[in-house]
Amino acid sequence: MKITYLGTAAAEGLPGLFCNCEICQRARRLGGKNLRTRSQSLIDDTLLIDFPADTYAHMLHYNVPLSHIHSVLITHTHQDHLYLEDPGLRFGVFSHELDGKMTLYGNDALVRNYDKMYRSDPNDTHLDGNLDCVELKEFVPVCIEGYTVTPLLANHDKNEKCFIYLIQHGETSLLYGNDTGLFPDKTWSYLAGKPLDLVSLDCTTIKYPDGNNHMGIADNLSVLKKMSELHCLKPTTKVVLTHFSHNGEMLHDELQQEVEPYHFVVAYDGMSVNF
Ligand SMILES: [Zn+2]
Ligand SMILES: [Zn+2]
Ligand SMILES: [Zn+2]
Repeated sequence: MKITYLGTAAAEGLPGLFCNCEICQRARRLGGKNLRTRSQSLIDDTLLIDFPADTYAHMLHYNVPLSHIHSVLITHTHQDHLYLEDPGLRFGVFSHELDGKMTLYGNDALVRNYDKMYRSDPNDTHLDGNLDCVELKEFVPVCIEGYTVTPLLANHDKNEKCFIYLIQHGETSLLYGNDTGLFPDKTWSYLAGKPLDLVSLDCTTIKYPDGNNHMGIADNLSVLKKMSELHCLKPTTKVVLTHFSHNGEMLHDELQQEVEPYHFVVAYDGMSVNF
């Protein structure tokens, strides 16, 4: 499998949309891997995860074949993971020569927002065959694009049932773990004994521990310790950190140096990892 990180920032982007803190100023000045757009990833050029407003920029910069993407997993409805207006351009005058529909998969909040925006008038059929939305249930595996996808409960916005995802293809497994703090017990019970090939973790708060809504490096280490105890890790398991905030106060190279002893990979926009 291959994962490509298209966007690796938290909600405000890095540098932050309106921010003039020292980290954002240095990020603007240094550029490169310090410039991070909002959260999105692509599995094997087939399965998209999240659909923020920055999807358009990702399409331009990384040649994302959006017209051929038919399935999108949505983690939760926060603005940096879902800009629901854009998928609605998938019809008629806005998008010619489409081959089939694109389906958004996610929690009940996604479906509620989708129904309000696109299904409130039963006579309005303009998106039929072009766009759809399907609710997933936590811990119930489904087959999407040949992958076994299982939504697991995150520890994030308590007003919404946020998901992280276990994605399996043949013998290969990926845990896509943002946005979340330390995992709920039910998620640990589900993961126990399931070996993972790549673990992708929320590291929003970087040098400051959180654990309740997001994670920092210390939280990532405690997650890995528990994974080891529950036999989720192999000697070859890759660990990637993503979803960074300026409030974590580290630019890319500093962060990579900080986590070097643990062999963690620090994601940056455009980075691909094979596993
Ligand atoms: Zn987020
Ligand atoms: Zn800032
Ligand atoms: Zn969030």
